[in-house]
Amino acid sequence: MDTHKIIVAIDGYSSCGKSTMAKTFARKTGYRHIDSGAMYRAVTLYCMRNGLFKADGSVDADRLEREMAGISISFRNNAVTGVTETYLNGENVEREIRSIEVSERVSPVSAIAVVRRVLTGMQQDFGREKGIVMDGRDIGTAVFPEAELKVFVTASPEVRARRRYDEMTAKGEKADYEAILENVKERDRIDSTREISPLRQAPDALVLDNGNMSLQEQDEWLMDRFNEKLESLNNR
Ligand code: C5P
Repeated sequence: MDTHKIIVAIDGYSSCGKSTMAKTFARKTGYRHIDSGAMYRAVTLYCMRNGLFKADGSVDADRLEREMAGISISFRNNAVTGVTETYLNGENVEREIRSIEVSERVSPVSAIAVVRRVLTGMQQDFGREKGIVMDGRDIGTAVFPEAELKVFVTASPEVRARRRYDEMTAKGEKADYEAILENVKERDRIDSTREISPLRQAPDALVLDNGNMSLQEQDEWLMDRFNEKLESLNNR
């Protein structure tokens, strides 16, 4: 039987477990996982470290456009933990890009045209050979509109903020639930209303509301949809 390799696009609101679901899926299938949000976060960290944020919180987009070609983002597998980590110009920034400071600044950076153009191009390159699962905000709409399987994940802001809070406290990090909830809502707002590639459900995406689902249930749901898709492609 011919087995297709496909592209799986997972989009949705912030902190609704897209990356966790994509990671497990990648482990089970041998597909490559790319967390596109990590790429936007890495560019944001670059801006923070290099003084590209102005006093009013906006970004010096002209300077960023000039410097974009010098920003390299890559992913490497940590041989000890088995986890894929994000590198910015050769430095492992996996931990730093998850901080609340980066979370608070990432949405305005992601709204800049040149940032979207460059990162979208890099993401499309990752997908050339298929056999990939990518999560983000515009994967099924702008990066891979032709993806064979598209999922749109959603859950209430309170559920998402609680999960993020639990995740941070479990790692021993300081967390403030109200601040996280505010951040989740504000990112939803900016991500959904920006001009270029706003967060929206692709017409052919399957909706997954995982507010009342366990991790195992959502993993199984995705695997079932994936197997159905492969079966329908193989029967063509
Ligand atoms: O997925 P994560 O929450 O890590 O993404 C961080 C931010 O990156 C989002 O709030 C959004 O502003 C931006 N992003 C985006 N397009 C993507 C992935 C993330 O604009 N495909």
